Amino acid sequence: MTALYDSSADENRGEYDSFIPLDFHLKVPKYSMPEDTHDEQTVYKLILDELMLDGRARQNLATFCTTWESNEVRKLMDLSITKNMVDRDEYPQTAEIERRCVHILADLWNSPQALSTIGTSTTGSSEAAMLSGLAFKWKWRQRQDDNGDASGQPNLVTGSVQVCWQKFAKYFDVELRELPMEEGRYTLDPDKVAAACDENTIGVVTTLGLTFTGHYDDVESVSSALDKLQAETGWDIPIHVDAASGGFIAPFLHPQLKWDFRLQRVKSINASGHKYGLAPLGVGWAVWREAEDLPEDLVFNVNYLGGSMPTFALNFSRPGGQIVAQYYNFLRLGRQGYTSVMRDLRDIAQFIAKALNSMRVFRVIHGGEAGLPVVTWTVSDEMELPFTLSDLSHELRSSGWQVPAYSLPANLDCKIVARVVVRYGFTHDLAASFIEDVRNALEYFQNHFPAYSLDTKEEHGFNHN
Ligand SMILES: *Cc1c(COP(=O)(O)O)cnc(C)c1O
Repeated sequence: MTALYDSSADENRGEYDSFIPLDFHLKVPKYSMPEDTHDEQTVYKLILDELMLDGRARQNLATFCTTWESNEVRKLMDLSITKNMVDRDEYPQTAEIERRCVHILADLWNSPQALSTIGTSTTGSSEAAMLSGLAFKWKWRQRQDDNGDASGQPNLVTGSVQVCWQKFAKYFDVELRELPMEEGRYTLDPDKVAAACDENTIGVVTTLGLTFTGHYDDVESVSSALDKLQAETGWDIPIHVDAASGGFIAPFLHPQLKWDFRLQRVKSINASGHKYGLAPLGVGWAVWREAEDLPEDLVFNVNYLGGSMPTFALNFSRPGGQIVAQYYNFLRLGRQGYTSVMRDLRDIAQFIAKALNSMRVFRVIHGGEAGLPVVTWTVSDEMELPFTLSDLSHELRSSGWQVPAYSLPANLDCKIVARVVVRYGFTHDLAASFIEDVRNALEYFQNHFPAYSLDTKEEHGFNHN
């Protein structure tokens, strides 16, 4: 990461403001607006002190979102703070930068017409998912109208998806056919996908990679299964790829993997710029394979900002800085830079996976090889342990690490896993400290449950075999 990572840009810049004198007596009402005006520095300091109580974002290993930004990005964000993305007439250059980003992504994801296809920035992958789902629903309705049969209820077939798809289904009244995880199989089973589809399936959502584990769905096999289904039934069911994280990883780490617009059936892709796109919080992307994959009827034209502006978005006003920063990252890093960053993150994930496996009390179920640089693990089945992963999570919190422990979705909801998302800014050195803290936690458990030996390198110990 060396040349691409400048540790002088620290998120806790507030510390530099410690010269502002403290007002020990200042009290403001917390849930109603104060009557009086206050001095700006005093209020600033008051709020700074409150924010100090938040967790340290870089030690939050639960989130997928960017928690480290360079000084240049901070400056560009500052410059853009008053720019409204929707106001393309007033800010034509920011709008042009957004357009370039869309085409850069269409090209990165191998759109057959990367220069003429359409896409949009959004507030994140969730909004991008809503828009992509709506495009599917509209296309389905057009097909129904063409067939003269408007009686069916729309459904969407997915694997274990991020909550945004459950929201989409509920908010836009589409039946969600969420195929469960099975023992030994975390990703979509192509045959089961095909079996779950019918003439009212508006589309299939595949995920790159899964929020719960980091695995990639096998988009190509799902696509082949749907080809076969079409040959048998005539149903031409489109695929959307939720590449919230993987859209910025697969092109660099797994360039041979066919998951994107190289597959005919993939009609739209979303990604979170603010995850592995490395942009600051608040930007996602939705790109359609070809212009005709986005029904025109969904695009609104407004003229009250000057000029005629096409908009396809759930929000109207939206900040422009994240998009400018996204563009900065594209230019600054280039393919080479993104590849180098993603390789480093994968190596660190593998280092953590190996270290956890060597402790023998854990079983890593995803270690960052063919998927996201994410480590997901459970406790070893054969051992009776004096602690749960929630206890481990709690114990790690005492050294500042946030590591979630949660149950997998159905049908593996009896399995508890813990997960570490390796992100830009999580260095090898920090990873080594993290592993040391896991070891310390195990030692702590042993000291409190002396009946268990923690000598995990011996045949006895936790291993009852
Ligand atoms: C994070 C994530 C989302 C939601 O993205 P936001 O950018 O947080 O709105 C959707 N799908 C997947 C697979 C994700 O990882």
